[in-house]
Amino acid sequence: MSTTFIEVAVPLPVTGTFTYSVPEGLEDRAVVGSRVLVPFGRRKVTGFVVAAGVTPSVDDVKDVIEALDVAPVVDPHMIELTKWIADYYLTSWGEVLRATLPPGINMESRRFLRATDEGREALESARRGAGASGGRSDGPELTERRMKLLELVCDRERVSLGHARREAGIPRNNRRDIDALMREGLVEEFEVVHPPKVEGGKQAVVRLAVAGEEALAERESLERRAPKQAEALAALVTAPDHTIPVAELGGSGVSSATVTALVKKGLVERAERASPKLSTGHEGWGLRDEGAMTPEQASALGLVAGKVGAAEFGVVLLHGVTGSGKTRVYSEAVSAALDSGRGAIVLVPEISLTPQMVQRMRKDFGERVAVVHSGLTMTERYDTWRAIREGMFPVVVGPRSAVFSPVPNLGLIVVDEEHEQTYKQGESPRYHARDIAVMRAKLEGAVVVLGTATPSLESYLNAREGKYDLAELPERIDSGPLPEVEVVDMCSEPPVDSEGAFSATLRDAVRETLDANKQIILFLNRRGFASFVQCVSCGHSEKCPNCNVSLTYHSTDSTMRCHYCGISTKAPDKCPACEGMNLRYGAPGTQRVEKAVRELFPDATVERMDVDTTTRHGSHWRILKDFAEGRTDILLGTQMIAKGLDFPGVGLVGVVAADVGLNLPDFRAGERTFQLLTQVAGRTGRGDERGRVVVQSYLPEHYTIALAREQQFGPFFEREISEREGIGLGYPPFSRLVGIVARGRDEDQVREAAARLADFLDKGAEKMGDPRPEVLGPAPAPIGKLRGIHRWQVLVRGRAGTARALVAGALAQRKALKLPSAVTLAVDVDPLDLL
Ligand code: ADP
Ligand code: ZN
Repeated sequence: MSTTFIEVAVPLPVTGTFTYSVPEGLEDRAVVGSRVLVPFGRRKVTGFVVAAGVTPSVDDVKDVIEALDVAPVVDPHMIELTKWIADYYLTSWGEVLRATLPPGINMESRRFLRATDEGREALESARRGAGASGGRSDGPELTERRMKLLELVCDRERVSLGHARREAGIPRNNRRDIDALMREGLVEEFEVVHPPKVEGGKQAVVRLAVAGEEALAERESLERRAPKQAEALAALVTAPDHTIPVAELGGSGVSSATVTALVKKGLVERAERASPKLSTGHEGWGLRDEGAMTPEQASALGLVAGKVGAAEFGVVLLHGVTGSGKTRVYSEAVSAALDSGRGAIVLVPEISLTPQMVQRMRKDFGERVAVVHSGLTMTERYDTWRAIREGMFPVVVGPRSAVFSPVPNLGLIVVDEEHEQTYKQGESPRYHARDIAVMRAKLEGAVVVLGTATPSLESYLNAREGKYDLAELPERIDSGPLPEVEVVDMCSEPPVDSEGAFSATLRDAVRETLDANKQIILFLNRRGFASFVQCVSCGHSEKCPNCNVSLTYHSTDSTMRCHYCGISTKAPDKCPACEGMNLRYGAPGTQRVEKAVRELFPDATVERMDVDTTTRHGSHWRILKDFAEGRTDILLGTQMIAKGLDFPGVGLVGVVAADVGLNLPDFRAGERTFQLLTQVAGRTGRGDERGRVVVQSYLPEHYTIALAREQQFGPFFEREISEREGIGLGYPPFSRLVGIVARGRDEDQVREAAARLADFLDKGAEKMGDPRPEVLGPAPAPIGKLRGIHRWQVLVRGRAGTARALVAGALAQRKALKLPSAVTLAVDVDPLDLL
């Protein structure tokens, strides 16, 4: 028989896949979609089989060490999807595959050693000849430590790797002695995958294909020739129902190769058996009684349901103001998917901040809903994953990683608040869950619903160009008109407190609200890390003439810098626009605003919610609960609290410094600010009374603030999209960006590496056809130094796939770049945040 070769993707930062040969006995398990243990350099790694029956292109192909799964863990659709992700995001296929699986899948296995027949023989003869040579004369040197190991392993059916090490006094990172014994074929290493704790669906088993007596007779005849097979038969004869779950085989000392040999002899068969199902009681659920859908809801649903029914790929952008009943549409769409026998995934930006979606789906679909989130233990995540895969939960609700849920026969993916940045993963693989949702739906013939009050420019452009269908819900359902937004012009109303945070208008509004026994939310634009220079007389702040993004102020050398192209200028001492002499450098952060609140309202209870106060697990829940239950008067926080939360007791929402958002060194600064202001306005007036919203800004006339105030998304889109189109090759969605950050402890090294990279990319770009991509930078990253690590970035901007192609080419020639080994590169395709 000819050897089988497979392609394996390993979860290491490498490009491409690797060819291995499959030893006899493993052919039926080392199949596409399963995990294999393979030698990789001097290590052993768990890789994923992504193709089989390949022809190797090199001569010395190594053998797979072990097949780790009894059945594939990755479905064919996922193989295709992860391949696309790896190519698109210029990242390792194996790392992407690993990211799609629950982390518990690896935890569920333990490594063991067992003696081979040769090992037992070697031990015998070593013992016999102990007085003389201390080992077989022709065999390996059996040092004292190796003897000890071999004795340990021969003593029992199997010994865990850890136990063997401890008993033989072998340190954790030293495999020399174990490897030596394995090379000689005296011991074998194997992995036991524990069965999941959740019982459900089907279980792969091995069972006798013949009667017990016959098996016993066979066992006797095999005893001498094939002792392992004899043992396996004995184990099966004594097992309940003559059946052993495949996942427990290792624990019974039976290897897969042995089973295969017995299957060939017709004594044993592989099968599946039903295991007890999870309760799927349907009582207590049904779509919430909201009466009939509005005509707009019905037509939105019609678009979605029609495609779901026809199993046709499509994307529907559901643009609806806060409170317009988008959730109802999601729910009805899920229902339509279930009715046609298909599953659904509902993505939310952050599960702990969107409890209503979980409650709603649970209420509407009962125990058919699985909720996946990081609060689950590894075992729970693994068990849930298995159960989803077996079809027990046709509805899955979760954050970005839930886009990979193995829902069989997927018909629908809902992405709620599609514009949210949390859908982009901040570490490798840096995928965007919304974009993955669209790709996955395309591969599986499913429908995507992108819901939001403030579509991302990318999605809205797609809708306008007809790539997506657009459904609009322009009216709020039950809470009347959206609250009016008052904009305070800080240039004419200077701050009244020592921290420079409150205008008299905002101060008085807070006071009145407190007096009316209502609650207040004060927003600060996220992270004030990037400082800027702004004139307090006219609100002007400087932008980069090349890049049209705000310049960042550096107090150490009082310069202003562009974090895209790297230009640096002296900070002005008077306003370049109005010659005013009063400039401010950034805006007060959360701690200083908290101080101002305590100074102005000493009698109010105040809570601050930002990354500092919420690092402890569960603390944001506590803060929100206290607020929801009325124990806190004023909640002060970053964007974190702007997401989908309903607080009926809120009478006032204040945005302390809208300009911080506008001055972020990011081409999306305007879009983000528009989104924040719109979300914020949606937070009040959910009860009977109309709420009040006060926004402070030195730039009240800025189109972003003026249009957000009137909740005019359409005009904002037109204006913003033309701003983006105008600069050079344009910013996304007209072009694509790829960011590369060089990091290291030595600043000079990092800067030089970034410069060399930029140069290399520039030369590469020159060889490309028009419109060729442009290289911006190098420039210090906005967070130039973090925990002792310096960061410099290079941005590549190009039309269509040119930026990615250029970076991919450079990465492939990484060696030619001769970067110091202490500098690492991180690549981000379609970066959303500043790296
Ligand atoms: P969104 O998700 O767009 O912010 P929701 O789905 O939360 O809006 O809907 C706002 C409110 O309107 C909720 O209280 C919801 O129960 C109610 N609602 C939704 N659809 C209808 C309807 N067709 N008839 C009556 N009430 C509805
Ligand atoms: Zn610039």
